Amino acid sequence: MKAARWHNARDIRVEEVEEPKAGKGKVKIKVEWAGICGSDLHEYAAGPIFVPVQEPHPVSKDVAPIIMGHEFSGQVVEVGEGVTKVKVGDPVVVEPILRCGECPACKKGKYNLCESLGFHGLSGGGGGFSEYTVVDEHMVHKMPEGLSYEQGALVEPAAVALHAVRLSKIKPGDKAAVFGTGPIGLLVIEALKAAGAAEIYVVEVSKERLQKAKELGATSVINPIEEDPVQKLRELTDGGVDVAFEVTGIPAVLQQAIDSTAFEGETVIVSIWEKEAGIQPNNIVLKERNVKGIIAYRDIFPAVMELMKRGYFQAEKLVTKRIKLDDIVAEGFETLIKEKDQVKILVKPE
Ligand SMILES: [Zn+2]
Ligand SMILES: [Zn+2]
Repeated sequence: MKAARWHNARDIRVEEVEEPKAGKGKVKIKVEWAGICGSDLHEYAAGPIFVPVQEPHPVSKDVAPIIMGHEFSGQVVEVGEGVTKVKVGDPVVVEPILRCGECPACKKGKYNLCESLGFHGLSGGGGGFSEYTVVDEHMVHKMPEGLSYEQGALVEPAAVALHAVRLSKIKPGDKAAVFGTGPIGLLVIEALKAAGAAEIYVVEVSKERLQKAKELGATSVINPIEEDPVQKLRELTDGGVDVAFEVTGIPAVLQQAIDSTAFEGETVIVSIWEKEAGIQPNNIVLKERNVKGIIAYRDIFPAVMELMKRGYFQAEKLVTKRIKLDDIVAEGFETLIKEKDQVKILVKPE
């Protein structure tokens, strides 16, 4: 079968690989649509980050080259011995977290905090940028009726956004700010809408993305090139927002996010960082503010799909391009680097 494998930064190849089989407790899926994520782009442009290159990943036991793609939907084509959660023909999405099952976090059910955290499609074991892939039974979620496969490919990134909002202290009627509107930032806007935020301020430099943010529910947008976002947010909110979401990964923005919150405000860091970000701790101390991080998601895929049934996180608004697996480098990764108005590009493996 055909699959896109990461060999090195700027070296992702679509090539022939062996088709996997569903062993005991495993589910084989024919991939329908797979989304290209910001972390895929990082691996392509500046990897390896999550891709294991020296040592095999402790859970997948794999090492590069590895098949990429962790945001995908598909149809069950084979189930291994003992599988009861799904049957052949079922439409499913995959929750791609790899966890050890034995560390303190795993034992408490907080599997996204696993000491050996990895992702199917980033850390080995197969991935969504291939015709077929095999995952553990516990990783599949049957899609409810009425959701398309395209919609299914958006469940994973929407889960990140919903987890971030659910772990924040936001309450209905509160004011929030979102710094950065890549796909996750845009999905955070929708998750805030679902959570009942009364005011959603968005800070972003790209005019196209500010426009998209408005379409998805931002009540006000701020371009930090034109005005100081902290000062502007304080004016607009009479002293600061209740919760700020940092979704850029740009060091200077972290301090801005913290400073844009009111006293006792909260900053949620959603980004993964390539380097250190300096902050003045007094700005946290003197206002009794909180800063917290979130990673991925846990126990949330069914809730995301229920919200999708109610009209949130719609593929029609977020998918900007659909391509074939053969074109993934030129029409996928390269396009995302060059075109700032792209949101989500979906890949059809065939
Ligand atoms: Zn992702
Ligand atoms: Zn673990």
